Amino acid sequence: MENAATKLGQVRENIARAARIAGRKAEDITLIAVSKTHSAEEIEPLLLAGQRIFGENRVQEAQAKWPELRERHPAAQVHLVGQLQSNKADDAVAVFDCIHSLDRPSLVTALGKAMARADKRVPCFIQVDIGEEDQKGGCAIADLPDLIAMARAAEIPIIGLMCVPPAGIEPTPFFALLDKLASDHGLEGRSMGMSSDYEIAVQIGATHVRVGTALFGTRD
Ligand SMILES: *Cc1c(COP(=O)(O)O)cnc(C)c1O
Repeated sequence: MENAATKLGQVRENIARAARIAGRKAEDITLIAVSKTHSAEEIEPLLLAGQRIFGENRVQEAQAKWPELRERHPAAQVHLVGQLQSNKADDAVAVFDCIHSLDRPSLVTALGKAMARADKRVPCFIQVDIGEEDQKGGCAIADLPDLIAMARAAEIPIIGLMCVPPAGIEPTPFFALLDKLASDHGLEGRSMGMSSDYEIAVQIGATHVRVGTALFGTRD
């Protein structure tokens, strides 16, 4: 892992270059280092290299790894980038600083109650099923206005929209659509772009890119 700092520097440079091309500022783009499946020993070098925001896709894994890492690195933040079951809402509110996968009414209800109980308002992105793929998580585009209204009524801070475009095809139109939907609803945040396409996403307006493989190498 001696090259963690090198990889982080490269990804940051790529983000800065893509931002410059698009006439944006690199500071307006948040890099989330997606550390799912990687051990605390693999994560620590990135923390030491200055990375502060990490992404996990499972509540249990985050609970196991992060309390100790956070003790050593109090400025670290952990975002949930994977699907969330309603019965884990309390645990998710306790362990995460931000949730990118709010996508259905039952989860709005569960998270609203969990945040009230914990007296902690965790900022959320609404995940949109941008490619109309039934098997993936995400709110149907047609249901988005109602879900946003419901989340606001439940006092859940909605900071933006998130998407994972369909695999294997050009992501640009999907990023552009998410950008437009966010604008239509007056939302600042656009969580889009992963290792294979984060530079394109930055050019199209991503405010948060979720990068795993390009920082940590391939997962088992
Ligand atoms: C795993 C994951 C990522 C990171 O993917 P890489 O291709 O490894 O960069 C980003 N977003 C979500 C929702 C993920 O599950």
